[in-house]
Amino acid sequence: MVKPDRPPRIILLFRNGFMKKLSPSDFAALREKTRLVLAGRDPADSYGFVNPPIVRGSTVVYPTMEDFLQRKARYSYGTKGNPTIDALEAALNTIEGGAGTVVCPSGLMGCTLPLLATLSAGDHLLMTDSVYRPTRMFCDSMLKRLGIETTYYDPSLGAEIAALFRPNTKAVWTEAPGSQTFEMQDIPAIVAAAHAHGALVMMDNTWATPLYFDSHKFGVDISVQAGTKYYAGHSDVLIGTVSARTPELYRTIRDAWEALGVIIAPEDAFLTLRGIRTMRLRLQEQMPAGIAMAQWLAARPEVARVMHPALPEDPGHALWKRDFTGASSLFGIELKPVAMKAVGAMLDGLSLFGMGASWGGYESLILPFDCRPYRTATTPDFKGPTIRLHIGLEDLDDLKADLEAGFERLRAAA
Ligand SMILES: *Cc1c(COP(=O)(O)O)cnc(C)c1O
Repeated sequence: MVKPDRPPRIILLFRNGFMKKLSPSDFAALREKTRLVLAGRDPADSYGFVNPPIVRGSTVVYPTMEDFLQRKARYSYGTKGNPTIDALEAALNTIEGGAGTVVCPSGLMGCTLPLLATLSAGDHLLMTDSVYRPTRMFCDSMLKRLGIETTYYDPSLGAEIAALFRPNTKAVWTEAPGSQTFEMQDIPAIVAAAHAHGALVMMDNTWATPLYFDSHKFGVDISVQAGTKYYAGHSDVLIGTVSARTPELYRTIRDAWEALGVIIAPEDAFLTLRGIRTMRLRLQEQMPAGIAMAQWLAARPEVARVMHPALPEDPGHALWKRDFTGASSLFGIELKPVAMKAVGAMLDGLSLFGMGASWGGYESLILPFDCRPYRTATTPDFKGPTIRLHIGLEDLDDLKADLEAGFERLRAAA
């Protein structure tokens, strides 16, 4: 259990050493860029080295029986946190701007943990139909077995979502833009409807990251990240993060985190911390590359439509422009009707795009998808095959040449 007198986690990292020059309120007044460089580290705690060390450990030993009985130590046991994980959580707090953050071993667990922590048998959950598919599978299997009912809703609902609330609706899950199909959601309208009903709003904010959508500022109560994507940024770590808007909710999430024993390896905390230091720079490069590639694809004769909310013709563009401050480099396209065999000829011959799940790394990826078989509240009207692209840090002209040759193979095989 979290001790009631436990100070906010961010303060724990300002004890001695060179950070002593900055009080927590001085730190809070700094701009985000600066906070991202400083957060979660104090060289006085790491023998003067710049970065916090990887601390491995299960057991914490105490000098006296009295200390042990009172658990009088900064750390009590390996499953309840350690300095490397604290450093990461402190850094995450600086960008999420919530009351506290916990980290877990995958983005998927980042989605499932807050649902497990806040919902009880008899409760009702509203879930966007555009949600990341494994989150849907969790609702349809484990939540269902635990007696929690899920209703999927059309992601285009704003204030009209109020009609779907029942007396037992405890939470609304959002994801904007949605997985695979990139529908935007009117988060402020959903927050207003949910809060009027006393329900929580949770958001999978992996696409925009807190740098490009400040979800807590918009009233989102629980902000989830698959840190596997842009946080870690190098396709070599699985990690999830859960940030709570209020201290009470943070306590609830943290208690569930401790009760379940959801601990991550300190190496993964270290690598994610390293990723976060440069995330802003990577996104600054990847956002315009993604938009430029989406525009280039929109002009191709083989492409029926592009799903990218930063493009003015996208149905979600007005919401994106109103609420978001940037875009990541993941988007979808619908091809004009063509045989899957031809799509295979295009994708199989690509040399720069890897074909695989996940995204947010430094490298470009491509995959075919079909969301129609499992959507239940909406029926996307795709007439041709659908493809998802992630644009990495390669030269854009090289990537276009790779795709151009792919389109030639597609036409030849059609
Ligand atoms: C990848 C992803 C997740 C899950 O992250 P993992 O670390 O792969 O479990 C959750 N939500 C979204 C939107 C994702 O793209």
